[in-house]
Parts: sequence; C-alpha cells; structure tokens
Amino acid sequence: MKVHNVELTISAVRPEQYPDEGFPEIALVGRSNVGKSSLINTLIERKSYARTSGQPGKTQTLNFYNVESKLFLVDVPGYGYAKVSKKERDKWGRMIETYLTKRPSLKGVISLIDARHDPTELDIQMLDFLHYYQLPVLTVGTKIDKVPRSKWNKVTSSTLKKISFLNEDNFTLFSATDKTGKDSVWAWIEKMTGQ
Ligand code: GDP
Repeated sequence: MKVHNVELTISAVRPEQYPDEGFPEIALVGRSNVGKSSLINTLIERKSYARTSGQPGKTQTLNFYNVESKLFLVDVPGYGYAKVSKKERDKWGRMIETYLTKRPSLKGVISLIDARHDPTELDIQMLDFLHYYQLPVLTVGTKIDKVPRSKWNKVTSSTLKKISFLNEDNFTLFSATDKTGKDSVWAWIEKMTGQ
C-alpha cells in the first residue's frame, strides 16, 4: 500500500475508548525493543511517527493508527520489560487479552520476534495465545540485516521448527534498516483487511 495519510486516532486502554470508524484492524505485538516501532514506521513510510523505545515498556496504551482511512494498525505495548512491576504487568495482560479476544474489527496480528535469537519463552506464550484464539498471525523475524544472508534459510527453518503452526505463508524476515520484507508484510495486511 502506498501510504500518504496516517493519523494517531487514539491511545486507548478501555474498550469504550477504541475507535468506532469500523475499519479493519491489524495489531502488532512483540517484546520491548524487538523493533515494533521501527516496523510500523517502515510500513507507513515515516521516520519516527510511532515511538521508538527511549523508555521501553513505559507506554501502556493501545495506539490506533488510521492508515489512509482504510485500516488501523494497532501498536500494542511491548512485553518482557524487566522493570515493569507485577501489578503493571497484570494490567497490561488484561488490556491485551480484552482487546485481542473481544474486538470484531481485529483481522490479524503481526507478532514480532528477533531473527538473531531463538524465540523467547514470552514470544512462544504470546504465539500460543494467538493460536488458541484462532487469530490469523503473521510472525515477523526482525533485524535480519544483522544476520548474514547465507544464514537466512536456517533462521527460517529453525523458527518454523520451533513454532509448530508457523509455515512459509505466515512467517517472514524483516529489516527496518534496508526494508527487506516490507512488501510481504503489506501484502499480508492487505489480504487480511480485504484491501
Ligand atoms: P520497539 O521497542 O519494539 O518499538 O523497538 P524499536 O523499533 O524502538 O527498536 C529497538 C532498537 O532496535 C532501536 O535501537 C532500533 O534502531 C533497532 N532496530 C529496530 N529495527 C531494526 C532493524 O531492522 N535493523 C537493525 N539493525 N536495528 C533495528
């Protein structure tokens, strides 16, 4: 999708704050620092529209970005930031669970994992959760520019092996630095949102 207009419609916590335009939504989830803001900024062709993590784990809101008045990209606050208290983590969990399980406009979830490392325990928990609720998922292996090209196939096959419900159609490698994978991610979003 060629993006000209993007607007942060609302930072929401509770369902009554979610926007009511009725556009299809794609949520983005991943641990703090995985490269989620960079992915969003790459998709919408902005340098620093979505926040990049100066203070990882700090913002605990769902940020709804209206893209071209066609769809929302929903930035879900990152998980796994060590300094977050249990109370805040529980609050985060309730907010995410409510959004991911009770939002009819949600058409798919992009789950980010760091392509340089094995998925973490929390990454696998998140993927299991999404799978359990039968949400369509695209898993994106980020920062692939840091991995030599000769190892890309290995990264893909070992990730697919570790997460049984992933296959070639719902896994892609990505780099915000050189834009590897940008078109595949958009193609998936367009398919899921009927564009
Ligand atoms: P977030 O916390 O998930 O939103 O992560 P950010 O997008 O803020 O990225 C965290 C750090 O990783 C920043 O220093 C980014 O510059 C860096 N980063 C993000 N994406 C990439 C990428 O594709 N390649 C490289 N080399 N670094 C990246």
